[in-house]
Amino acid sequence: MAEYQTHEFDVLVVGAGGAGLRAAIEASAAGAKVGVVSKSLLGKAHTVMAEGGMAAAMGNVDERDNWRVHFADTMRGAQYVNNWRMAEIHAKEAPARVRELEAWGAVFDRTRDGRILQRNFGGHRYPRLAHVGDRTGLEMIRTLQDYGIHQGMEFLMETTMLKLLKDGDRVVGAFGYDRERGRFHLIRAKAVVLATGGIGRMYQITSNSWEYTADGHALAFNAGAALLDMEFVQFHPTGMIWPPSVRGILVTEGVRGEGGVLKNKDGKRFMFDDIPENYRSSTADNPDEGWRYTQGDKTARRPPELLTRDHVARCIRREVKQGRGSPHGGVFLDIAWIKERIPNAPEHIKKKLPSMYHQFKQLADIDITAEPMEIGPTMHYMMGGVMVNPETQMSNVPGLFAAGECAAGLHGANRLGGNSLSDLLVFGKRAGEFAAKYAKENNAGTINAAQVDETARKALEPFDRGANGENPFTIQYELQTTMQNLVGIVRTQDEMEKALVEIAALKQRASKAGITGNREYNTGWHTALDLANLLTIAQVVAVAGAERKESRGGHFRDDYPIKDAKWGGLNIRIDKAQDGGLKVTQVPIPEMPAELNQVIEENK
Ligand SMILES: Cc1cc2nc3c(=O)[nH]c(=O)nc-3n(C[C@H](O)[C@H](O)[C@H](O)COP(=O)(O)OP(=O)(O)OC[C@H]3O[C@@H](n4cnc5c(N)ncnc54)[C@H](O)[C@@H]3O)c2cc1C
Repeated sequence: MAEYQTHEFDVLVVGAGGAGLRAAIEASAAGAKVGVVSKSLLGKAHTVMAEGGMAAAMGNVDERDNWRVHFADTMRGAQYVNNWRMAEIHAKEAPARVRELEAWGAVFDRTRDGRILQRNFGGHRYPRLAHVGDRTGLEMIRTLQDYGIHQGMEFLMETTMLKLLKDGDRVVGAFGYDRERGRFHLIRAKAVVLATGGIGRMYQITSNSWEYTADGHALAFNAGAALLDMEFVQFHPTGMIWPPSVRGILVTEGVRGEGGVLKNKDGKRFMFDDIPENYRSSTADNPDEGWRYTQGDKTARRPPELLTRDHVARCIRREVKQGRGSPHGGVFLDIAWIKERIPNAPEHIKKKLPSMYHQFKQLADIDITAEPMEIGPTMHYMMGGVMVNPETQMSNVPGLFAAGECAAGLHGANRLGGNSLSDLLVFGKRAGEFAAKYAKENNAGTINAAQVDETARKALEPFDRGANGENPFTIQYELQTTMQNLVGIVRTQDEMEKALVEIAALKQRASKAGITGNREYNTGWHTALDLANLLTIAQVVAVAGAERKESRGGHFRDDYPIKDAKWGGLNIRIDKAQDGGLKVTQVPIPEMPAELNQVIEENK
C-alpha cells in the first residue's frame, strides 16, 4: 500500500497562476475551505511572464470602446468557432475584474488624468490593454497573491498532481507528489478546479515555461472530460531567434503596439503585401496612417503589423521561405526607427518597453533603441482545452471545473493578445464561485484506495527500470522535434499521420523510461512523469488537426488552404474512448442569438 500524506478541502485548485489564484479567492470568499497546489513556487507560475496587458473595454483612452466592440473583435479573431456566450460574458465582465484588481492593489500605468492606461494590441479595434509597462503578469500575480494569502487558503507549493480521483462519475480529489522530497500526497476535495495552463513543452520552439506539460488537459481527459478545439495552437509571430540558447523567448506584441514595424532582409515592410479581406476596412494602407494609429490618432486605422497573430506569423514564414529572411531564419522587428518621428526616442522606448530593452541587451547584446531585433514565430498559446459550461466552468465530469489556458471556449481558432489575462480573471472567478457552490451542495465522496495504489505504483516504475530504461529527456526532445516539424505552424494530412505514428512509438518507449537517483528533486523522474501527459495530448492535437480539413486561425493546412463554411459551424470534441483510444466527434456550434449577431454586424 502506498504511503502518503492526506489533506482535506472543500475546493482544490490545481495551479497558482492568474486563473487558479482568482478561483481560489472567489471560492474562499464563498466560505469554502480552499487548497491550492502548484508545480512551481508561489509567484513563479507562467502568468508572471505575461507582458503586454489585459484586455478590457473600459474606454479610458478611446471612449468609443465598449463591450460590444470587444465582443465583436474577439469573435472575429476567433474566426467564429469560439463559444459566443463566453465571449459575451468576457467582454461584459472584464472591466469590473480589472477595476477589482486595481482595488486590491495593482499599480497600473496611468493616463494623464489618472485613469488606467490602455494600449493597442493586435486584433483589438481600440487601445484596450490595461498594463504595467511590459510586466503586467508580474503585477497581476503579485496582487492576487497578496490579496489571496489573507483569505485563509492553504498552499502546497512544488507539488505535482498526477491523477484525479473519482467516486463513480464525479471527481473527489487528486493524488500527486511533492518535488522537493518526492513524498506522495492525497488530497480529498468536494470540487476540483484545474488551472494548469498550456502545452508548450511539446514543441521545440516555444515561449512557454517549463511547467507547460499539458498536465491539466491530460488529468481531465483521463478522468473522462471532453477536450475541445485541440487543433488550434497559437504561434506568436515574434519570438527571439538568436542566439540559439534564447530561441522562442517572447517579444511582446507591445513592441508593435508602440510603433515597431516588421521588415525583410531588403528593408521592405512586407505586411502591407497581404491584408485579409475581413480586416481591409480597418487596416491602414500606408505607413504614415499606421504610425498615427499607434500614437493615438483616432481617425487612423491600425497598421498591418497589428493584424491577428496567426496571419502575421504566416506572413513571416512566407518571407523566410521565399528567401527574404534575416541571417538566422527570421525577419526584423524595428522599433528604433521611431527616432525619425519623436524626440528622445531611446528614452521613450526604454520607458514603454523596459523588459524588452533588457531582454535583448542582456541575452543578445542588441540595443533595441538603436538597431532592429531578429525575430520569428514561437509556439505560444493553446486555444483548445477542457470543454466547460460557459456560465459555471464545470466540465462534463461532475465536480471538475477548469479555467484559464487549460479550458477551451473563449478563443476559438485564434486568441487575441491580452484576452488571456482578462480570461483568467473573468472565468477564474466564475470557476471558484461555482466550485464552492458545488462543494456546498455535495458531500465529500469516497476515495478508492485501488486508484491511489495504482497511481503510486506506476509513478515509481521509472526507478525500477533504472539506468536500463530509456532516457526520458531524449524522448521529450524527440517529441518536440516531431510536433515542431509535423504538427506546427503549417500542416498537411500526411505529416500529421506521420506524427501520429511517431507519437505511438514514443509512447511505447516512454513506458520503458528509466531513471537513477532518489526521489528528492529528481528532474529525470519529473520528466518521466510529465512525458505521459505530453504524449497523450500531443496525440489529441494531431488527431484534431487531421480531422479539421480546412485552414482557420492557428490551424493552417497546406493541403486545405481555404477556410470552409462547413467547418465554420463545427467544433471538434475528443473524449477518451472505452478502449483507451480517442473518440472524435464533430459538434455543431449552437446558433448565436439575433442580438449578438447584430452586434457583430454593427462592428464590421
Ligand atoms: C511570455 C509570455 C507573455 C504573455 N503575455 C500575455 C499578455 O500580455 N496578455 C495576455 O493576455 N496573455 C499573455 N500571455 C499568455 C498568458 O500569460 C497565459 O495564457 C496565462 O498566464 C495562463 O494562466 P493560467 O492561470 O491559465 O496558467 P499559469 O499561469 O501557467 O499557471 C499554471 C499553474 O498550474 C500549475 N500546474 C501545472 N500543472 C500542474 C500539476 N500537474 N500539478 C499541480 N500544479 C500544476 C503550475 O505550477 C502553475 O502554478 C503570455 C504568455 C507568455 C508565455
